[in-house]
Amino acid sequence: MQSTPTPSGPATGISASTGKLQVRDPATGELLRELEITPIDLLPVMYVRAREAQSHWSRLSLHARARKLLDLRETVLNHADELIDLISRENGKPRMEALSCDISPSLELLTYFARNAPRMLRKKRVNIANPILLLRKSVLEFAPLGVVAVISPWNFPMLLPFGEIAMALVAGNAIIFKPSEYTPLIGLKLQELCEEAGFPPGILQTVVGDGRLGAAMIEQRPNKIFFTGSVPTGKKIMEAASKHLIPVCLELGGKDAMIVLQDADLDYATSAALWGAFVNSGQVCASTERLLLHESIAPAFLEKLTAKLGALRQGPSTGLENDLGPVTMEKQKDVYQRQVDQAKKAGAQFLSGGDFSQDRRYLRPAIVTGKDIEKLEIYREETFGPVVAATTFRTIPEAIAKANDSPYGLLASVITKDLSLGEDIARQLDVGTVTINEAVYTAGIPETPWGGVKESGFGRKHSEMGLMEFVAVKHIHQPRTAGLTFKSLWWFPYTPFQYQTFRLFIDLYRKSWWNKLRALPLFLWNFAQFVKRERRL
Ligand code: NAD
Repeated sequence: MQSTPTPSGPATGISASTGKLQVRDPATGELLRELEITPIDLLPVMYVRAREAQSHWSRLSLHARARKLLDLRETVLNHADELIDLISRENGKPRMEALSCDISPSLELLTYFARNAPRMLRKKRVNIANPILLLRKSVLEFAPLGVVAVISPWNFPMLLPFGEIAMALVAGNAIIFKPSEYTPLIGLKLQELCEEAGFPPGILQTVVGDGRLGAAMIEQRPNKIFFTGSVPTGKKIMEAASKHLIPVCLELGGKDAMIVLQDADLDYATSAALWGAFVNSGQVCASTERLLLHESIAPAFLEKLTAKLGALRQGPSTGLENDLGPVTMEKQKDVYQRQVDQAKKAGAQFLSGGDFSQDRRYLRPAIVTGKDIEKLEIYREETFGPVVAATTFRTIPEAIAKANDSPYGLLASVITKDLSLGEDIARQLDVGTVTINEAVYTAGIPETPWGGVKESGFGRKHSEMGLMEFVAVKHIHQPRTAGLTFKSLWWFPYTPFQYQTFRLFIDLYRKSWWNKLRALPLFLWNFAQFVKRERRL
């Protein structure tokens, strides 16, 4: 066990000699494909194509667009084995996770939005309570935005963009999609699947490249940017978008806490923490990176967790035999190295792992603790890898304060037998989602919103709230019938009669029914006179 790096073998990246993107299996370094980078000067043409496709697509009925999502679902199913293979080879995750965490929830997303978007995006009548507006009506319509830029990371290369793709398309938008430069093959595959499913050409176009291309996409002024990735990149995107006032939705990083209460069943709690911290080798925005353990159970909990972690198998994803894959992204290894080195230097206790494999393709999964752990970067900053840092608490307010002591606010979990206490704690945690007796997985539920607070970003994806991120709400306000068109009470020229009618009107807000009722008849009489006098059509 040593933390001195031996050099890694070849990894996914842009070749200095050819300028092409070499996509490699992160477990072996095997070259999977070499791709041309999308030239930046092609972007304007792609946006024009997207706008043309969108203008036809948006004229289809909502039901027709929803039916297309079901065609896409069938196409995904027809290619399921090929997709599992591609995801696990390009990203490195076990085949089981490509199936359970990418493909299966993507199918659920398509099903949910195909079934529910027509109802959610149907025009809606709004009831207006104000008596002055009694003879007016309002309707909300949900128009597509136009062209949406979707910029994604590599950790769930199918699930993450698929949510945006399903929501944007059913709402009538076109998409320019930039997958991570670490997973462009699955990104290109998603465009192929859409084409095979019969979506119009140009409605989803995938570009291949790194952050420079992502930045150039913003300069083409998409109607909205839906970004999932790190906090520093999210800040750059928001800054660039602000120059053109492009709305953004930012799904960013996390340092999620799991609070384990004194009453927790240790076998259950350690299994929840094991999956929460190490699924996808910890390369999950919502993975459990901080364990807050009641001091009475901490030693037994950590002993059990360490034993369970020791039984997991780490290796390439070719078969079904491994639980943990390699590190997907070369750059992230520097973050692990820095955090681990700092923790070791500070005397933190590694109960397991923390060192790289000989070929430096794997970080041995680590549980780290110690009396000063809360001061260390490994506990405070996002690791985005197979590392969990554990500390203890004595009282519930202390646990809540510790969980909230973070710049991030994506997800938190509470493990307890007392569900009402769990809910009470959940209400006090500054995060977008709290799971009780579960961890991580709710980004896979299409019915519920996903997103964070604080530096974990803003905006929501999935659910009706997420769908609303992809439409422009249009309010249409008009007289109830043409025959009831009259000049408004607040229009020029102001008269003593208008003033008196308004004065009577505000008394309708009084608390006491007696006072309200006293004002009502005269107000109605005045208002009726006014309408009669000012009716025009
Ligand atoms: P990243 O920020 O490095 O890159 C994300 C995407 O942004 C990539 O496609 C990249 O090419 C692109 N990009 C980089 N610079 C850009 C720029 N200046 N302009 C436009 N695009 C640019 O993140 P990553 O390493 O790919 O992903 C890991 C991060 O994503 C972690 O912080 C993780 O927590 C976060 N994440 C968040 C969620 C969520 O739902 N909140 C989900 C998954 C991952």
